Amino acid sequence: MDAAPTAAGVVAPSTLCVGIDLDDLRCYRGIHALPPGPDTPLVFDAAVPRFLDLCDRVRVRATLFAIAEDLKWPAAGAAMRAAATAGHEVASHSLAHRYDLSLLPPGAIEADVASARTALSDAAGREVVGFRGPGYNLSGDLLRVLARTGHRYDSSVLASPPYWMARAAIIASIRLRGRRSASIVGRGRDFFRGRAPFRWGPGDGGLPEFPITACGPIRIPLIGTTLCRPGLAARLVRGAAGRPFVNVEFHAIDFLGIAEDGIEPALAVEPALKVPLADRLASFESALRALASGRANSTLADLVRR
Ligand SMILES: [Zn+2]
Repeated sequence: MDAAPTAAGVVAPSTLCVGIDLDDLRCYRGIHALPPGPDTPLVFDAAVPRFLDLCDRVRVRATLFAIAEDLKWPAAGAAMRAAATAGHEVASHSLAHRYDLSLLPPGAIEADVASARTALSDAAGREVVGFRGPGYNLSGDLLRVLARTGHRYDSSVLASPPYWMARAAIIASIRLRGRRSASIVGRGRDFFRGRAPFRWGPGDGGLPEFPITACGPIRIPLIGTTLCRPGLAARLVRGAAGRPFVNVEFHAIDFLGIAEDGIEPALAVEPALKVPLADRLASFESALRALASGRANSTLADLVRR
């Protein structure tokens, strides 16, 4: 089995980490400049149970990156507590999933991430130590604030230039149609970084960083949007062979269906929703089983607590 230095400087066996960002449907309405829709805890009522069921079947423990303001729903708090009790990790995906969080003044960033961490720790019954930025967006201010507000790692880097370019194109095309996306282009250099865990420099807070894995010469990310297609998923699994650290990212929407969950058809613009839910779940399970084979599994928090 391969061994690799983690960002924390610990030698670990080849490791699979699995995470899910619990973005509410309002995030996607914001990205695509769609009108507001129903405000319901669908993510916690439907997506989280399907995700945790998948984790049980594949026998992996995962990291759930939650938006703290969603704790307004009792179902969200109950899901966080249940996930933590089952051995999963609850981490922070910020207070309100502002795509421009990284661009705010340091005081406003601190108010957001510090209160999110406290609320999510209370809900989970465990101290939250991890963070993933809305839209993968980082800045020096954000990283420094994370380090001084008790976070012990970041996992926002998506080392996939094609993803960054595709996102910029979508934002531009929405603008050309006279609307404005809530998403932002972000700091491009983060999407061109290396794929192994690393530690930010002292001027950027010094936290360990666990990038989301991308494979192949054009760096296609191992995310729900790609892993829901069996042919592409198989190629990505092969591309990850021999990687000492694999960090897979899902989103809650990957576990929802237009028909099954009564989602407005306008959101079918999201790529994962174009694949039938049952086919997606089968493809995810097949990919995770293959990625877990021969690898240890841990939450991201485990990597910094070793
Ligand atoms: Zn998100």
